[in-house]
Amino acid sequence: MKILVINCGSSSIKFQLLEMTSEKLLAKGQIERIGMDGSLLKIRGKHEYVIEIKRTIKDHRTGINLILESLTDANYGVIQSLQEIDCVGHRVVHGGEKFKEAVVITGEVLKTISSCITIAPLHNPVNLEGIKICLELFPDMQQVAVFDTAFHQTIPETAYLYGLPYELYIKYGIRRYGFHGISHQYVTHKVAQKMGRKVEDLKIITCHLGNGASIDAVKNGRSIDTSMGFTPLEGLVMGTRSGEIDPAIIPFIMEQEDMTGRQVYRYLNNKSGILGLSGLSSDFRDLESAARVGDRRAQLAIDVFAYQVKKYIGSYVVTMGGVDAIVFTAGLGENSPYMREQICDGLEVIGAKLDLEKNKVQGKNTKISRTDSNVELWTVLTNEELMIARETQRLYEVH
Ligand code: ADP
Repeated sequence: MKILVINCGSSSIKFQLLEMTSEKLLAKGQIERIGMDGSLLKIRGKHEYVIEIKRTIKDHRTGINLILESLTDANYGVIQSLQEIDCVGHRVVHGGEKFKEAVVITGEVLKTISSCITIAPLHNPVNLEGIKICLELFPDMQQVAVFDTAFHQTIPETAYLYGLPYELYIKYGIRRYGFHGISHQYVTHKVAQKMGRKVEDLKIITCHLGNGASIDAVKNGRSIDTSMGFTPLEGLVMGTRSGEIDPAIIPFIMEQEDMTGRQVYRYLNNKSGILGLSGLSSDFRDLESAARVGDRRAQLAIDVFAYQVKKYIGSYVVTMGGVDAIVFTAGLGENSPYMREQICDGLEVIGAKLDLEKNKVQGKNTKISRTDSNVELWTVLTNEELMIARETQRLYEVH
């Protein structure tokens, strides 16, 4: 069975084609800079190397058509005909409170995803557009929506409510939703499998540390608290996002810097985080290099980030009543021994001891804690597309 996974962003489309019998990746790639100069498709198909195709890609429709053309291309394509695709799985960022798990897409589902646009204006419209285009292209094919928020729907009221008038929750759905759920769910299962234990018996803290970063407390396989909130702006300081701040800072900046609310929102999303703190870059690789040669603000940004991660870990150990494993994943979590060391420094107090030698690892699923550590520390490679494909297959088999 072949499943196409589509992940539409505002100016990008990521895709993978997988053969699910063996979970073999047949092709993967992405379209970048949709509607801008320099738009292109990158694909790794039949060959080991990545092919770049520079084309004018004016919108998502053109992009999806180009992806389908490339999958059947005589030189680098991996299938003879589009008929070989059995099912399409779509990533949808926000499922609100309506979607507690992945669903087969129907007219009703489309309406409900649309109704979540008010709480996810940046993400859901483009996800929806991708789905509609694929439904037109493959009208008879079953398609599935997999939500970034669904895994967090098990978070209890006490953890998802903010200290705001309750009517705002009832009226507008203002509450913590949490994001990166597909990744947190994937690494939870992966680490349990690696530990040879059942997720139902474990307390796990998953640290998804990439450009966007969030932490999740997963107790007995269910997410019970997470650092991102109503939007992906809350929680940790990130590449360009501020993470949590005192809300009183917003009107203060508006007055002092003569900005509108929208402008401050963009400022907090795009100009803050480790970029704003360091004044240098949103990429931790740049900060680590600069810090090594004595850049004080680069070091400060790293320290602030590591401190915040540690703080979340500490609080989740308490809310879960202990922890069996802490998992590091995504770009930074998988690839930066230095950052993992900074974060784990001091975690001995909760019984977690990092093995400095084993920690010298990048891009691997491996245990990095010492043998005398009571809490297992792991790096796990996340694979959101595979998780989407698995969910898509599961629903295909049920229906
Ligand atoms: P996204 O959230 O965009 O999917 P990724 O999960 O790909 O992000 O993570 C990208 C980030 O991971 C980069 O911005 C960089 O900060 C960090 N990163 C990737 N590789 C390394 C590395 N070797 N050392 C330190 N940081 C890294």
